[in-house]
Amino acid sequence: MERIFYVKTVTCRVWTKARDYISCSLNQKQGPGGLLARPVLTSYYQSEHFKTRPYDPYNVYTSPNEAILCPDSFQSMYTQMLCGLQDRHQVLRVGAVFASGLLRAIRFLQLNWEQLSVDIETGDLNPKITDPSLRECMDKILKPNPELARFVRRECSKENWEGIITRIWPNTKYIDVIVTGAMAQYIPTLDYYSGGLPKACTMYASSECYFGLNLNPMCKPSEVSYTIMPNMAYFEFLPHESNSSKFTLDSSPKLVDLVDVEVGKEYELVITTYAGLCRYRVGDILRVTGFHNSAPQFHFVRRKNVLLSIDSDKTDEAELQKAVENASRHLREFNTSVVEYTSYADTKTIPGHYVIYWELLVKNAANSPTDDVLKQCCLAMEESLNSVYRQGRVADHSIGPLEIRVVKNGTFEELMDYAISRGASINQYKVPRCVNFTPIVELLDSRLVSAHFSPGLPHWNPERRR
Ligand code: AMP
Repeated sequence: MERIFYVKTVTCRVWTKARDYISCSLNQKQGPGGLLARPVLTSYYQSEHFKTRPYDPYNVYTSPNEAILCPDSFQSMYTQMLCGLQDRHQVLRVGAVFASGLLRAIRFLQLNWEQLSVDIETGDLNPKITDPSLRECMDKILKPNPELARFVRRECSKENWEGIITRIWPNTKYIDVIVTGAMAQYIPTLDYYSGGLPKACTMYASSECYFGLNLNPMCKPSEVSYTIMPNMAYFEFLPHESNSSKFTLDSSPKLVDLVDVEVGKEYELVITTYAGLCRYRVGDILRVTGFHNSAPQFHFVRRKNVLLSIDSDKTDEAELQKAVENASRHLREFNTSVVEYTSYADTKTIPGHYVIYWELLVKNAANSPTDDVLKQCCLAMEESLNSVYRQGRVADHSIGPLEIRVVKNGTFEELMDYAISRGASINQYKVPRCVNFTPIVELLDSRLVSAHFSPGLPHWNPERRR
């Protein structure tokens, strides 16, 4: 039977949208007003709608409900991986909600394949799996399979993990993950592990509301447009160029209705939901690409918030991502790529400067990028940043040389573990593209491998002020 290896988990603790931590030992919590707070995926997977879903031949998951619902993330991931490995020939698509979740599963396999092979060989489940209902369920599924164990050991012990997804799941036709918006930076790593399989971004949603669907899921990630589902909420749009401070409920904001948005223009999404949010600003900037019947279709541009600012400069997520992409071209000849990054506006130095943390995938340790190359990467990033930044560097001297701090492999994994330990949802976790919370900065700095500064000034033309 055809199957999907799709990594899903629920969380023990929840964050509200504002990321206020609500401490609780169950996977949901009532707020002071009596409302239940939990991330959308926890809510969905725990619903009867999911647990008692009718059989759908197009959506047969390798993971049993007990593994998905297990609140312990190690036990959940371990057993999902075990089931995925056991069904490897039936798997036709591999995925997780966000690209980062799938890469975390690959990393999990890298760390745990030896024990997983022992379980597969003997048919005895790892004693670390202690959840009684999960053990009972796995006892029925797990059968000794020495041949499969040999295969897993042979493939996973190889140094080169290129194409590991198609080696382990040879019938995979496509990867089912979101790679738009902030997830776009995972595309090269996904391509590396999957041998360039197509990536289907099917949905655009949030914990507050489901927004839209991609009606052409096999298109290239850069061409993805999401069609808004008008029945999901009352959708309004704040033209992006308008001054956001004008938006107050008293001063009748200039909001545009769903049917009145114009192709080519950018808007910030505002929703009024059945659950009671009134004109809630989601924080996403979308560009209209067309219409499906009367429903508008949007390209996800970016999240609204500015990431980095030292002086009058403002760098947003899309600019930072472009700069990382441009800089990482210098790494190609060293067969090296940036697997994760985040940033920090370091104002302890005078003037302050941008710090970019990089975790690198160096495919050939004998030919890893030198200090000079990484310095050139710093300069390439500065060249890619906007003119206000470059003016601050060249003319105003209000910004110091950009710094790249290379951190040890697995550091961003630890960052995620830290967020999960504080209640973030493993499925909905997104690497923060900017950090300013001291324990996180300290964690990153404690994993430092090397630091490199921009060796010169970026280009800036005082006449044209560009
Ligand atoms: P959450 O806070 O975990 O509910 O995440 C919701 C946010 O994730 C959205 O407001 C978007 O910023 C982002 N997001 C969700 N789906 C997509 C998508 N298909 N492409 C890009 N970003 C997305």
